[in-house]
Amino acid sequence: MSAADCIFCKIAAQEIPAKIVYQDDELIAIEDINPAAPIHILLIPRKHIPSLDQAGLEDASLLGHLQLTAARIANEQGIATRGYRLVNNCGEWGGQLVMHVHYHLLGGRDLKWPPG
Ligand code: 5GP
Ligand code: ZN
Repeated sequence: MSAADCIFCKIAAQEIPAKIVYQDDELIAIEDINPAAPIHILLIPRKHIPSLDQAGLEDASLLGHLQLTAARIANEQGIATRGYRLVNNCGEWGGQLVMHVHYHLLGGRDLKWPPG
């Protein structure tokens, strides 16, 4: 899939509406349309990288920024005290459906481990 028909590129460009939690020059954070927990936020880089497996060293600071922004949002959303989970699904067996790298920030309930 190219960036031209990528749903997360369109959300980042605000061509498709989403509930935006935070955005800056490098990323957009939105509420997941089908939440798996009381707080379920997606952190999406504006750069089209199909999956974490296809990220390179040149993306290291971008991915670090995504993770640290997730931690800041977790604090703002009030889920950091009890704890939260930051997830990247990569590839078919990882459960990745949207081929534009993103992290899921999940919290607001006692999350089980291991995942199914
Ligand atoms: P994946 O399985 O690729 O890791 O996760 C994709 C996530 O994107 C899913 O949790 C799904 O609910 C969410 N999602 C898919 N399409 C949309 C959309 O159009 N808007 C929003 N806000 N979330 C979406
Ligand atoms: Zn994309």
